[in-house]
Amino acid sequence: MSVSSRSSKPAVDVVIVGSIGIDTVETPHARRESVLGGSASYACAAASFFSRVGMVGVVGTDFPKAYHNLYKKFGVNTEGLQVVPGQTFRWSGVYEANMDNRRTLSTELNVFASFSPKLPESYRAAPYLFLANISPSLQMHVLDQMKRPRFVLLDTMDLWINTARDALRDVIRRVDMVTMNEFEARHFTGRHNLISAARQLLELGPKYVCIKKGEHGSLLFTRDSISLLPAFLIENVQDPTGAGDTFAGGFIGSLAKGGAINRKAIVRAMLYGSVAASFGVEDFSLDRLAKLKRAQLNQRVRQFQRMLAG
Ligand code: AMP
Repeated sequence: MSVSSRSSKPAVDVVIVGSIGIDTVETPHARRESVLGGSASYACAAASFFSRVGMVGVVGTDFPKAYHNLYKKFGVNTEGLQVVPGQTFRWSGVYEANMDNRRTLSTELNVFASFSPKLPESYRAAPYLFLANISPSLQMHVLDQMKRPRFVLLDTMDLWINTARDALRDVIRRVDMVTMNEFEARHFTGRHNLISAARQLLELGPKYVCIKKGEHGSLLFTRDSISLLPAFLIENVQDPTGAGDTFAGGFIGSLAKGGAINRKAIVRAMLYGSVAASFGVEDFSLDRLAKLKRAQLNQRVRQFQRMLAG
């Protein structure tokens, strides 16, 4: 038994479960084949700027060593990353000229199809949990193994809304906060009006609902408040893949660092998430985040704060 598994202090502040994939992405600018992607990759990388992060996921034996090393470079704890015989999850998509609309060309779950996550003992008492985009049954399985997280965030996508709606509703009932883009929120609730859609999500149990509106920013709903946060706009968007995951990772990492959990702290963490996402889209895959320095991130946060105040 390792020291970390005997002690009650968790080895990480934030546990993140999600997809870990090899992506092929085509934008109007370029096409990149077999690059590192997946919701957990983006989220863990972004969260690692603020907190100690533990990754839960699975890859096949084909997963390149260079990508394992990249997680290490971010300082991500990969004790919860399983390597099993078979092929890694693969996804490919193509963006239209406006970079907003994306078409999924293929999704191959591969090793994720039979994945049964077993959380390392050193993760179980972590205070923050992010159930990033992956099947709701896997999200539930991870949630069940956590001891008593202070704060649980959930993200999802249209595929799970279409194919696993009931399971998704069951997990949503058990989390503190849900993040969806406006289309997913409308699709899941059947309400076009975003206030009604958010209210329906809040009625399931979460205290906070964050609805993302891409370049138009994000909204935070509680039972008695609505907060608005613009996006940090940048001119040079190379690849929007993973922007939502980077936003959520930056969000939960900075929330964990701050320690408080209230509306004000959540909006502040959303600001950090937006800034992390604005860097992420400046290049393909995790390329920009891998070069990003904490000082550059802080500088953009200050710039964003001045824009909001001014
Ligand atoms: P986003 O742009 O936020 O939707 O995230 C894109 C990332 O999600 C890509 O890196 C994909 O590998 C991953 N992804 C695509 N489809 C799925 C899926 N069905 N489940 C989990 N992750 C997915």
